[in-house]
Amino acid sequence: MITQMNFKYRIYPSQKQIIKLNKTLSDCCFVYNKLLETKINAYKTDKTNLSKFDLDKLTKQFDVPVHSQVKQNISKRINDAFNHFFRRVKLKKGKVGFPRFKNLNRYKSITYPQSGFKIVSERKLFVSQIGNIPIVLDRVPKGKLKTFCIKKTAIGWFAIFSCSDVPVEKIEVPDNQIGIDVGIENFATLSNGEVIANPALLKKSEKKLAKLQRRFSRKKKGSANRRKARFRVARLHETIFNQRSDFLHKTSFSVIKRFKIISVEKLQINNMVKNHHLAKSINDVSWGIFIQMLSYKVERTGGQLVKVNPRNTSKTCSNCGTILDMPLSKRKFKCLNCGFVCHRDLNASININTAGRAEINACEHDVRPSSVKAVVDEAGTIFEPA
Ligand SMILES: [Zn+2]
Repeated sequence: MITQMNFKYRIYPSQKQIIKLNKTLSDCCFVYNKLLETKINAYKTDKTNLSKFDLDKLTKQFDVPVHSQVKQNISKRINDAFNHFFRRVKLKKGKVGFPRFKNLNRYKSITYPQSGFKIVSERKLFVSQIGNIPIVLDRVPKGKLKTFCIKKTAIGWFAIFSCSDVPVEKIEVPDNQIGIDVGIENFATLSNGEVIANPALLKKSEKKLAKLQRRFSRKKKGSANRRKARFRVARLHETIFNQRSDFLHKTSFSVIKRFKIISVEKLQINNMVKNHHLAKSINDVSWGIFIQMLSYKVERTGGQLVKVNPRNTSKTCSNCGTILDMPLSKRKFKCLNCGFVCHRDLNASININTAGRAEINACEHDVRPSSVKAVVDEAGTIFEPA
């Protein structure tokens, strides 16, 4: 099977190259803001939506030492940002802001869509206008090289190759089924009783981050100390991001290589955004990414990820089906009907597994009841047939 993949490597530009790279970033940022301004003005005056082709032509008037392909990628970025803007306008009826202008703190990457770069050897990467940059290719990018991007982060510089048609080995998996409930107490609970704890390392870093952020906010605006404190916050943010994605990759892989049919709850994005509790919101983001990882990794096993309706998964007895009131503070599920007792998250994960299995069976056998008695939709409304 084949898939699309990103290959990321650390690069080690010299001081001179760093100056060139930073200059390129600031030139790109300048072009970005100028093009954005033109596009916004055209839209404001008579709702003209300048196309990528129009913007590409405009980039030629900027006499900056930036590869032409990189400039064209800037117009693509603006077009993408505007497409997001149009989508937001469609979704929301109130006031929607135009895409934002960027300052250098928010402009971090240079993209070469097709040419302007070349892997010279395992130790050397050629980049147009910059030169040969030292790189360590511990593994060679596979498939067809599509785009190349240089990214500046708080830790250092990175080269990212996007490749298509990457051959991926298929993984043989036993015909197992599992339900997963994500929670706050633990990262996840599996319907076989397995518990995946939130990684301790991550918790420690997050505590440290809160401390650094407090320190940063106390520094005087515009001072050198504030700049240093901001850098420390950014660096730790990146470390946390890496630790978290490492954990999520490992965890999702360990799940897909053991279970073929994996059921999770359909996460409700709206509830997530409204939540102001920090630890909770961090978890929400992680679960979203985790489920996304499961959904593309499961393709390698020929398995399936089933997203089930989250309604009553915590409240239903997984043994007899009785529905109880279960406020979040109640950690144990005790069924008043059949006496079944278990941890609330385990009970939920068993229900999720059952619901997922039912969904799969319904699809496989294409069961359509000949005489429909009543249909219940996702919101719980009951429709009686006429
Ligand atoms: Zn029961």
